[in-house]
Amino acid sequence: MKLTILGHTAPFPAPGRACPGYLVEEGSTRLLLDAGNGVLERMLAHCRYEDLTAVVASHLHFDHFADLLVLRYAIDVCRALGDRRQGLPVYAPAGPAGLPELLTYKEATRWVPATAGEAVDVGDLRVSFVAVDHPIPTHAVIVEGERGRLAYSGDSRWGEGLIQAAQGADLLLCEATFQDRDRHLAAPTGHLTATEAARVADRAGAGRLVLTHIQAFYDREVSLAEAQAVAGGPVELAEEGRVYHLG
Ligand SMILES: [Zn+2]
Repeated sequence: MKLTILGHTAPFPAPGRACPGYLVEEGSTRLLLDAGNGVLERMLAHCRYEDLTAVVASHLHFDHFADLLVLRYAIDVCRALGDRRQGLPVYAPAGPAGLPELLTYKEATRWVPATAGEAVDVGDLRVSFVAVDHPIPTHAVIVEGERGRLAYSGDSRWGEGLIQAAQGADLLLCEATFQDRDRHLAAPTGHLTATEAARVADRAGAGRLVLTHIQAFYDREVSLAEAQAVAGGPVELAEEGRVYHLG
């Protein structure tokens, strides 16, 4: 299973850096996991619109799904031109009210309600959803290939759901929105500090921790140092275009 980082900055882009989005590949399967602002442009260096198998949105905050609104047009045009026959399923939680419906567009894209505790087959990948603690319905997402297990936090404050989702992951892609100096902002807004992300990885026994969803205004090296100070295993920053082979 191959993971490519497409974007990692939140909750708005920084110069030269897109909002969160990730591409997971196994065989001919292409899964787009979240798609904030700027992600589609990055994705095209690795995957054509025609070749996408499915999309998963961890939750419907705009830094995670804004680009899905224009992905609707891309898939619609692909089908009109005969470059793609099938519509594109988009798995996302059933809320907030009025937003999931935006993911269904003509015959091009189709919202599929994602339910915590449920697992679905997406081509050669098995995708499961775990409820995490954020102000709107949000899932951590576990992706399993033939070999390899990826856990993605979505956005979440500290909680057992998040630790459960990360159990046994070869790679934990974990939000690390805040730094220690702003730790008082983390729990009230439903986010983690980099220090907490490292503790989640340790508690869950994750093989490798990749920090993502770091505030656009931060010096990311500070986040990395704070996580490394408490982590028991390898930690690194998400970097656009970086590829991981799992399993
Ligand atoms: Zn976010």
